[in-house]
Amino acid sequence: MWTRKTKEELVQTRKRQKIADILAAVVLWIFLSCFTAAVPGWGENAKVSTFKDFLQRLPPRMAFWGLVAGCSLWGRFKVRKSGKATAVVCLRCQTVKARQGETVCQCGGELVNLNEMKWLKETQVE
Ligand SMILES: [Zn+2]
Repeated sequence: MWTRKTKEELVQTRKRQKIADILAAVVLWIFLSCFTAAVPGWGENAKVSTFKDFLQRLPPRMAFWGLVAGCSLWGRFKVRKSGKATAVVCLRCQTVKARQGETVCQCGGELVNLNEMKWLKETQVE
C-alpha cells in the first residue's frame, strides 16, 4: 500500500533527486560537447577532423552546452520547488493517477504527490 514518507525520507528523496538532476545535466553536457566537437559538419573546419581539431572545437561547444545544461537544470529545480508532481496517490482508495489539478479523489480521499509517498509491501504493514 501507499503511505506517506516521513520528514527524513522526504529530505533524503529531495537530496537524491537533486544529485540525479545534476548528474544527468553533467552527463548531457559532456556528451553533447564531445559529440558536436567530434562529428564533422559542425561549424568551421568541417572537413578535417583530427584529435587536434576536436580539442580546438571543444571549448566553445562546452561553453554553449554548459549554458543549455545549466538552464535545463535551473528549470528542473524550479519545477521541483513548486512541488508539482506528475502523479498523485489517493490516501483512501490507493489509486495512482495523473495530476489534473484536483486535490480530492472521486472516493473523497485526499490526493497526495506521488513523490511524497512510498510503497509498502503488505508484509511490512502487518
Ligand atoms: Zn480515492
